[in-house]
Formats: sequence, structure tokens, C-alpha cells
Amino acid sequence: MTPWTATVLTLFPEMFPGPLGHSLAGKGLTGGLWHLQICDIRDHGEGRHRSVDDTPAGGGPGMVIRPDVMAAALDAAAGPDDRRPRLLMSARGRPLTQARVRDIASGPGAIIVCGRFEGVDERVIEARGLEEVSIGDFVLSGGEPAAIVLMDAVVRLIPGVMGSAASGDWESFEHGLLEHPHYTRPRVWEDREIPDVLLSGDHGRIERWRREEAKRLTSERRPDIFEGWKDRNMVPPVRKV
Ligand code: SAH
Repeated sequence: MTPWTATVLTLFPEMFPGPLGHSLAGKGLTGGLWHLQICDIRDHGEGRHRSVDDTPAGGGPGMVIRPDVMAAALDAAAGPDDRRPRLLMSARGRPLTQARVRDIASGPGAIIVCGRFEGVDERVIEARGLEEVSIGDFVLSGGEPAAIVLMDAVVRLIPGVMGSAASGDWESFEHGLLEHPHYTRPRVWEDREIPDVLLSGDHGRIERWRREEAKRLTSERRPDIFEGWKDRNMVPPVRKV
């Protein structure tokens, strides 16, 4: 079976694999646990200068990526039988969540379009069914860092990429709560001690402490997430049909 494969469309191919070439993601990449294909949108540009953008219809600052150029790049990168989701990194997209990341990781891969300038002509978003995905409520200068963020989150879920299978069990968002604090040696550092319970060896107490800390941090920092977690815990689990 082909491993999880990302095909990235970009005007800056040299930005990849970037951070994804290092550490566990990088080992997974060289080890063939996942694949990365980079397509240079400029290869499909117009004329001698391989022009990819033009001024916005209706006026205003900046430039917009042409629909014909983007469609040609997309059609060359993915055939009609390609079942991977087509994602467009976009500040006005649906915010990326761990649930969506897990969903993308469980599929065959993703086609990821990186915008630049003011963005992409709306018609190609519609015509090629691009799903706009945002990595947060702020504006980047280009989609490449966002694509790297998305792939980093996905790739660490691919079996074999993370060293220890247990890692991920207790992580932020996976249980609807932010993660509890971590400590390691030395036992006392700048007069600050590791909480006694963590040195007690009593695994039941340690688990309870971690859960309480996770609840405390989530309710303090992310009341929005905490409300959702409480609601879900009150409803009996849905039976799978
Ligand atoms: N005019 C656009 C911003 C363009 S920024 C707007 O106001 O929404 C240029 C490119 O950076 C975008 O096409 C997109 O691909 C990327 N980008 C910017 N912010 C992003 C975000 N929060 N999440 C994902 N991609 C983003």
C-alpha cells in the first residue's frame, strides 16, 4: 500500500520539506513512512515570464493567483480518481482541529495548496472543490508555513513516526482537555520542587492528580474547550450502529 502522501502546490518549492525534513517527521520521510511531492505552480505560469498572478478585479492592493494557472497546476498534480482531500491553506478557512488532523491522517494523503499575495481567484476554489483550512486567526504572508504546520500535525499520527506508541495518549485535545504539567530531574530546581504526588509511586494517585490538573488548566485557559468537555461527559456515549 502506498504510504500517506502529501502533494503540495507552492510558488516556493525550496521551502519544503523544511522543518519536516528533521527529527521524527524527517526520519519518517526518509524511511518511507510518508511521502511528500512538491509541485511548482510557476511551471504552469503564463508566457515567457511564467506569470501566475494578476491585479484584483474591482481594484485594490496586491495580486491574485490566476484560476487558469492554479487549475492547470492542480490538474497536473492530481487526476480525477485521486481521492485525497484538496485543501487550500487560507486565513478565512475553517480552523484546523485535532479531530480534522486525525481524519486527514487516516486517509490516503492530502493535496495542499499554498496561497500567496492576496490569495487565489474564487472560481478555481469552487471549480476544483478546494476546502479552505486556517491554522488560526492571524494572517501569514503565505500558505507554506501553514501547510508545514498541518503536515507536522498529521505525520506524527502516522503509525511508526513517533517512537513510543504510548505517546499521544494524554496529549492536549486528545481527551478534550489540555495536557497536565510535566516535570523531570532535578527534583529541586531554583527552590522549586516537583509535586510530591509524582514521586509517590502511587499510579492511581498520579493519574487522578494529572486529570485534576488538566481540568484546572483547561477551565482557566480555555473555558470554551472545558464547557464542551463537561457537556460531552454528561451525555451517555453514542452507540455505533
Ligand atoms: N487576503 C487574505 C490573506 C492572504 S495571505 C485574507 O485576508 O484572508 C497569503 C496566503 O497566506 C493565503 O492565500 C493563505 O494561503 C496563507 N495564509 C495566511 N493566513 C493563513 C492562516 N491563518 N491559515 C492558513 N493559511 C494562511
